[in-house]
Amino acid sequence: MATLPSWLVTTRNEEAATTLARLYSGLHRIHGRQQESIELKLGSDAIAVNVDGPGSVINRMVLEQGEGLGPLHVCDGSSLLEPMNKAGDRCGCPESVFDRKAAARSGHGPKPDARLEFRLAAAPDAGLFVLTSSSWTFSDSLSAAVAHMERGADGAQMEIRLQRKVVTTRSGMSASYVRPVLSVGEPEVAAPGHLRLAA
Ligand SMILES: [Zn+2]
Repeated sequence: MATLPSWLVTTRNEEAATTLARLYSGLHRIHGRQQESIELKLGSDAIAVNVDGPGSVINRMVLEQGEGLGPLHVCDGSSLLEPMNKAGDRCGCPESVFDRKAAARSGHGPKPDARLEFRLAAAPDAGLFVLTSSSWTFSDSLSAAVAHMERGADGAQMEIRLQRKVVTTRSGMSASYVRPVLSVGEPEVAAPGHLRLAA
């Protein structure tokens, strides 16, 4: 059974929830697990967003140690970002993306920890929202967006979109997954992965 891709938004702000409900049709309202939060499923698969600037993006590579423990490795792909006394030191991650993905899959290397902070273009007063993903392609698309903004591109002209991708496995089975896409006024950059919006 196929379900249409949709965004799930979590907010504690009643007013923001009302605004979202008005803007994006086909919306269901779900009560959050915690009573103080409101979960909304948006009917729209694309959201026009304003990004304030490069500072709205956090794009790190993180290897977690496990529940309750701090991260074991935090880097930008070539240099350590944490701990502070080692920041800037070479981190030792492989140079090739293929090797990095293999290391992450086997649990020995860090995976992306990408975070985008944005406002809704249709309702900038609704406040800041956050999209996080551990997808490699989403991480790449954030790097591209930062480079665009550093060259003077307008962060007010961006869109996040959900896309369904169907793949056929070697055994002939077809499988589909949904990926968020961040477009920055250039050809769309796609990203598979988990997503969560929160305000
Ligand atoms: Zn590293």
